Amino acid sequence: MELLTIILLIIIGILAFLLLKKEKVLGIKTDENKTEEQVKVIESKDYRKNIYDLLNYIPEGIIILDKSKKIIFSNNSANNWFQIKLNENISGYLRNPDLLISIDKAFDGKKVTDFEIEIRNQAVLRLNITIYLDQNNLFFDENSCFLFIRDLTEFYKFQQLKSDFVANVSHELRTPLQSIKMGLETFENNPDIKQNSEANNLLPIMISQSERMENLIRDLLSLSKIELQEHIRPTHEIDLVELIDYVIKTYEKILSKNKIKLIFNKIDNCKIIGDRDKLIEIFTNLIDNSIKYSDKNKEIIITAKKDGDLVIISVADQGIGIPKESIHRITERFFTVDPSKSRSVGGTGLGLAIVKHLVSQHRAEMNINSIENQGTTIDIKFNSL
Ligand code: ATP
Ligand code: MG
Repeated sequence: MELLTIILLIIIGILAFLLLKKEKVLGIKTDENKTEEQVKVIESKDYRKNIYDLLNYIPEGIIILDKSKKIIFSNNSANNWFQIKLNENISGYLRNPDLLISIDKAFDGKKVTDFEIEIRNQAVLRLNITIYLDQNNLFFDENSCFLFIRDLTEFYKFQQLKSDFVANVSHELRTPLQSIKMGLETFENNPDIKQNSEANNLLPIMISQSERMENLIRDLLSLSKIELQEHIRPTHEIDLVELIDYVIKTYEKILSKNKIKLIFNKIDNCKIIGDRDKLIEIFTNLIDNSIKYSDKNKEIIITAKKDGDLVIISVADQGIGIPKESIHRITERFFTVDPSKSRSVGGTGLGLAIVKHLVSQHRAEMNINSIENQGTTIDIKFNSL
């Protein structure tokens, strides 16, 4: 998406450059006697029209708004989706209140994230919208705002197929696996079988492997469900400090067993809009990793802080760290830096893939910093309430 936006911006930049420097670049000489007003008319009618014509060939939808959110221009793709009439307010076509607020924010020069919305015309469409403020007034005499719209309907159909497949296979595997596990546990408790040294050696391995497989199937099911819900925005008011306190409590025993000290630096009023269960899953995964990949007598420091409109939660450990070349891969599903180490601590490499999707569902941002043999810090930046 970002690449596409950059390409569009480059095209627009080049066209604007030609528009501004037309005398030199195109060899067109502006009549010295013409008033500034007349030059503006030439620019607005001819050159702007050429640019608008070109934008009509771009398969992505482009809508340009003036400061009152009236539509100044919409290209062919956008017209196909929305049957737009110029000079009408965008709210008549895209009624999503969050999108309208973001457009206002963009006009105020604030950074806004991409939007995904669903519209129901003749068919259901899933659209991704990038908002960009034309601060240099390249297209209009005052600031105008661009909406770059990409149709992701086919992509989501494919995602749905993939998720359904994974969910069905996982579900079908679950039942026979449960029977196998139950059978193994029955054998394990049978004194006759326990007397057989071979069975005695093999049974614990078979049980632990079937538990691993059970965890894997649970994580796969959870990941496919999360992927499908990623575009649904959470709606509840959540105090992150209270929620993290709750997660830490569930780890008290494991922390003391591993002789790891956990420090939580809190602040007041740490509220965001979120989904409680999913936020619990995010911090459970992060704390779980910090414990799994730290040695005894180390510390984990969780810090909550505010920075403008953001609430930032950092989870920092003094563990084994992640090699530089692997940092960008650790949110990939099934990726583990050292598979034998992960296996020995019960990891399947799905935890951070799940976290990545949940963070994105909260429109939050995750940054990972790590130094091998020194530790890892993961920051998550949420929009505060
Ligand atoms: P799962 O979370 O599914 O039980 P996992 O912990 O192996 O398994 P992820 O949480 O996705 O999987 O992490 C992926 C990999 O990233 C880990 O296997 C580990 O190599 C590395 N990693 C993640 N967090 C840390 C950390 N805090 N310190 C060092 N390495 C880490
Ligand atoms: Mg993990």
